[in-house]
Amino acid sequence: MHLLYPQICFGCGTDELEKTMPLCHRCIHDLPTTDFFSIDENIVEKIFWGRVPVQHAGALLFFTKDGLVQDLMTQLKYHHNKKVGILLGNLIGEAIAVEERFKQIDLLVPIPILSSKTHSRGYNQSHVIALGIQQKWSRPIETQVLVKKSWSNTQTMKNRKSRMQQVPDLFMVQNVENIKGKNILLVDDVLTTGATLEAAIACLLKGAPASVSIAVAAYTL
Ligand SMILES: [Zn+2]
Repeated sequence: MHLLYPQICFGCGTDELEKTMPLCHRCIHDLPTTDFFSIDENIVEKIFWGRVPVQHAGALLFFTKDGLVQDLMTQLKYHHNKKVGILLGNLIGEAIAVEERFKQIDLLVPIPILSSKTHSRGYNQSHVIALGIQQKWSRPIETQVLVKKSWSNTQTMKNRKSRMQQVPDLFMVQNVENIKGKNILLVDDVLTTGATLEAAIACLLKGAPASVSIAVAAYTL
């Protein structure tokens, strides 16, 4: 199989890489990592100031267009490359595991996607990242609380609510007893404006968690 379909690092093209890895060690080492998980009041945390309460937040990588990070995200989202999500999760897990300020986290909550999308893609990319985090930092993953609303639901709600509403109405919660009093780490792939995470947090707060923190794989500058 290796001769027919040589497994190569899609960062540099070398075939010297471990079976479970999408990138070689050198390309992993050269990824544009932030130090946000260790920095209080970092730029990702500031995005949410005055919007929703966020305990701590961080991003693993800087997302640069036309770069390797964009390739990684495309692989993860559109090319069924689950290994990418596991790798990104592993790196987040390693970074967070040594940080005192993330120690209190009880649960990982991946940002959900529509179940129809999960079927066509084969997985929810944020859930795969959470699985990767879990491999390096043992915390339970909670997928029964936060639910993505279907498009038709969202549209109906939009018509009823005023146009002034700023937080998009994307999610709903169920089984809220699972998160009551818990310290949650929300997991997502890419952070741009923070609108999706803000909507998710606004929704999760209905379940009265003790706190909500955020870990994303990449942050768009
Ligand atoms: Zn490489």
